[in-house]
Amino acid sequence: MKSRILKVSALLMMIAVLMLAGCANEPAYMGPSAYESVVVVGIDGGGELFHDGDCVLPEFAAFFATDGVLGYNFRCETPSISAQNWGAYLHGVTPDKLEVTNIKIAVQRFTNRKYPSVFQVIRNADPTCELASFCTWAPINYGLIETSAKVHKVPDKKFMNELYLDGRNLELVLDYLDTAKPKMLFVQFVDADETGHMYGFGSPKYIEEVKRSQSYALEVFSRFDPEKTLFLVIADHGGTMDGTHGGDTDEEMSVFFGIRGKTVNPAALTSFRPRDLAPIILNALNITIPSSMEGDPHESLFNE
Ligand SMILES: [Zn+2]
Repeated sequence: MKSRILKVSALLMMIAVLMLAGCANEPAYMGPSAYESVVVVGIDGGGELFHDGDCVLPEFAAFFATDGVLGYNFRCETPSISAQNWGAYLHGVTPDKLEVTNIKIAVQRFTNRKYPSVFQVIRNADPTCELASFCTWAPINYGLIETSAKVHKVPDKKFMNELYLDGRNLELVLDYLDTAKPKMLFVQFVDADETGHMYGFGSPKYIEEVKRSQSYALEVFSRFDPEKTLFLVIADHGGTMDGTHGGDTDEEMSVFFGIRGKTVNPAALTSFRPRDLAPIILNALNITIPSSMEGDPHESLFNE
């Protein structure tokens, strides 16, 4: 009888080990890193701000001129839609793996353990660190970031549309940063995309919002020590003058990318895809990149 119980418990343990292998709770190695924090600001519909960087604020360009670089003419993932691209950014894979849509992530939690988010991987490596995500467009927090990653999410609601404007999101982020010191902070602004849909991507009102988003990003960045922080700025897609996106034209697909950090080698930024972001972050934090991530960590972007 006893030996049967032993056999059964050995079998159960084997099943547990097999279930853990390769899943989201697999521990990840973390070594010493040049960075204490990673801050990512995502500008929804920011494309190439607006075309080839001609709507880039001088102070925004100046911020990335020290230990950093702003690059243009990169391609977002197909299709040029928010859920698919924010998913690729956060999980390091192409959208076909995640099978997410704008509607799905608004109403359904992300539970696919095969493709952990960058937040989940950091959490596995560092169970006690502070992680945060503030998104004006609520579905990113609700349906792209696992509950198990224990991220401080604002908001964390099942809702399709934004609950407030970017200015309120910025206030909430700055209030939070008065006391918190996150290892990774993700902030998403959506007013540029909303205005692009209403007036056209490239209209004066859109350009105004694109510029405002950059000044908001700089306010967030100003709360971090540039000697110890990796700063990243991204856009999920662009859009047409008719106020649409989702297609494969240059206007819809072209996106910018910005990176700044004390070990960043600006000359090395020659290519970039959204799926590369999560591996870049994990490489900078010296955390093992899971085999599920197919993006390029662009190791040459960092000096030793
Ligand atoms: Zn849109």
